[in-house]
Amino acid sequence: MDVSKYIPQNPEDGDWDVVVVGTGMGGSTLGHALARKGRSVLFLEKGKFLHGGLLHAPEIPPGPMSVEEQRLLYGWWPIRIQGETSFGQSDFYAPLGCGSGGTTVHYGAQLERFARSDFSPRQNFPDVKGTNLPDQWPVSHEAMVPYYRAAESLFDICGTQDLLNMDEGANLRVPPPLGERDQVLHDSFMDLGLHPYRAHVGYEYVPECFECTDICPKRCKERSGEVCLVPALSEFGAQILPECEVEELISDRQRVTGIRAVRHGKEIVIRARTVVLAAGAYMTPALLLKSASAAWPDGLANRSGMVGRNLMLHKATSWHWTRHNGIRQMAPRRPWPSTTSTSIMGTNSGLSRPWDFLSSHHSYLPIYAMWRNPIRAGGAR
Ligand SMILES: Cc1cc2nc3c(=O)[nH]c(=O)nc-3n(C[C@H](O)[C@H](O)[C@H](O)COP(=O)(O)OP(=O)(O)OC[C@H]3O[C@@H](n4cnc5c(N)ncnc54)[C@H](O)[C@@H]3O)c2cc1C
Repeated sequence: MDVSKYIPQNPEDGDWDVVVVGTGMGGSTLGHALARKGRSVLFLEKGKFLHGGLLHAPEIPPGPMSVEEQRLLYGWWPIRIQGETSFGQSDFYAPLGCGSGGTTVHYGAQLERFARSDFSPRQNFPDVKGTNLPDQWPVSHEAMVPYYRAAESLFDICGTQDLLNMDEGANLRVPPPLGERDQVLHDSFMDLGLHPYRAHVGYEYVPECFECTDICPKRCKERSGEVCLVPALSEFGAQILPECEVEELISDRQRVTGIRAVRHGKEIVIRARTVVLAAGAYMTPALLLKSASAAWPDGLANRSGMVGRNLMLHKATSWHWTRHNGIRQMAPRRPWPSTTSTSIMGTNSGLSRPWDFLSSHHSYLPIYAMWRNPIRAGGAR
């Protein structure tokens, strides 16, 4: 795809209904929905436009390349992330995508729903003292159901019903048959009174599908770039500025009115009626903090002082079933405090791998207060 025809010549003069920062799962999906409804949408993306073939055969320019350039070429966040966490100082290449499609270029395409009990989190932890978990989310599970169904259709999800979170109207494609070893595990879990089901995944299962985590050479993985961003541009009139890093959201006391960004070394200011910030779990709070102003001295939308704090990792336990060694637990390396889930999700492998893989995922728990202090503006660039 030749992206140049979707790049506006004078973005600062555009009459944009919506500017979307970030083209990952959040930004692409929302921008696609709004462009479909007839809104004029402009996407701003720090990384490269990867859906012009770069994802499959990156053109390596002659001469030496910096690590930063290499990482951008393969859709990874180019620089190390620095910050203070509950484990101490951290300084690492975070597993974050950067480029069209964001982190979905590299993700595992396992797209599950929240369980009903997740919407009333406090009751799940009656013995935990001092938690500020809310009794109820401001949205209900019922309100989300139509969106879950729409997302399952859009991302062509396959899997079987989670018996503990049933929805007769779910839009799930029938998965390919289980491999022999997964079937044995499935049956043993049933015998134990558990509720195994086939994971809800966005893979097309073309021949020799490996359920790639990372760049999928067969274009079999449902990524937000292909599913949402490209149609938004080519069918619904959206436009995009790749290689454009948003530096600040411009706001008054009431609302965000524009964006200051840098593209190819040149500063630009773009105004829009609505600004969507979808820069991912690390960079969204970092940008809010960088956008401090007289109206918002501690960072935009940070009256609570909580922006950039308490990022959680999800807790999952995985078993790795190998042909020669039987079942081996892969992660975690040290025991987790509690596992209460009784539903087991099996991925659909066993098709062509030498091993099968099953994972038991559990609720998202506030175990990891990952970022104890806000991400520093400098460190999060
Ligand atoms: C290896 C791996 C496997 C995963 N597997 C799964 C899975 O199986 N199931 C699942 O549900 N989740 C999975 N995830 C997590 C999932 O990919 C993310 O939760 C999801 O992509 C987040 O979407 P997002 O839109 O918030 O951010 P991202 O998808 O990260 O997109 C953010 C975008 O914003 C851009 N951006 C950031 N800052 C700026 C800026 N200042 N200016 C302009 N653009 C900017 C970035 O370049 C990026 O393209 C996985 C993640 C990894 C790393």
